[in-house]
Formats: sequence, structure tokens, C-alpha cells
Amino acid sequence: MTFTGSCMCGGITYAIEADKYLSALCHCIDCQKWTGGAFTSNAVVPRASVKVTKGTPNSYDATGKSGKINKHFFCPTCGSGLYTELEVMPDMTCVKAGTLDGGEANLGGKVEIEFYVKDRPSYLAPVAGAKQEPMFG
Ligand SMILES: [Zn+2]
Ligand SMILES: [Zn+2]
Repeated sequence: MTFTGSCMCGGITYAIEADKYLSALCHCIDCQKWTGGAFTSNAVVPRASVKVTKGTPNSYDATGKSGKINKHFFCPTCGSGLYTELEVMPDMTCVKAGTLDGGEANLGGKVEIEFYVKDRPSYLAPVAGAKQEPMFG
């Protein structure tokens, strides 16, 4: 099926051709800094399934704890974070679920895994049923 998404201003849109995705929260410090929020919610999909259909995102390379590059793609106009490509997961893209259209930001009501729970704010509880990884697994 096709999932679509966009940034806040609509300058960037994308489409994903995938039957399913892995739903993952990431509580790492970089995700907090990037979004200004407590965590990112992600639909993790095969990298080849993601196509930008309008505009050109900017990118910023952050160096992860592994020493590998985490490429952050965002709208140059409104600043929405759209997706990340991690050098440690060369075949996958972590689409920021809040940018998905049609209520898909809900991730089907299910979170399969939480990363970097060691950095999760103490006011948030673990998601029931989600695998808990202290760092990146
Ligand atoms: Zn935008
Ligand atoms: Zn993170």
C-alpha cells in the first residue's frame, strides 16, 4: 500500500510503497534535540520504498554514539523533521511518523519497540507490549 506524508508547510511531500512498517519510538538525546520534544515516533521502512514527491529536503549529519553518521532530513522552509537515514541501518529509513498523512501518525495504535529508554523522561511510562531497548539494541 501507499503511505503519504508532508512537512508542516506542505513544501515537501513523500510517498512510501510498503505493505507494513516497524513502529518504533526513539528517546535518544539527538531525537530530543532535533524535535524539541520528548522522543520521535517512527515508521521504519525499506529505504528504497521512500520517494520524495515534492520539494527537496535539507539534511544534517549527526554522529551517533557508534561513530556512524545519522542523516537527518528536514524541510528547509518550515523545519519539520521528515526522516532519518542511519549509517548503521543502510537499507532502512526511519520516517518521522508525525509527518504521515491520514491519521497514520497513530502508527495503527501499536508501538513495537522503544529505543534509548535509558534517556526516556521519567514522566513517561513504557508503552505496554513494546520491546524495551536501553540503547539501540
Ligand atoms: Zn515545510
Ligand atoms: Zn533517537
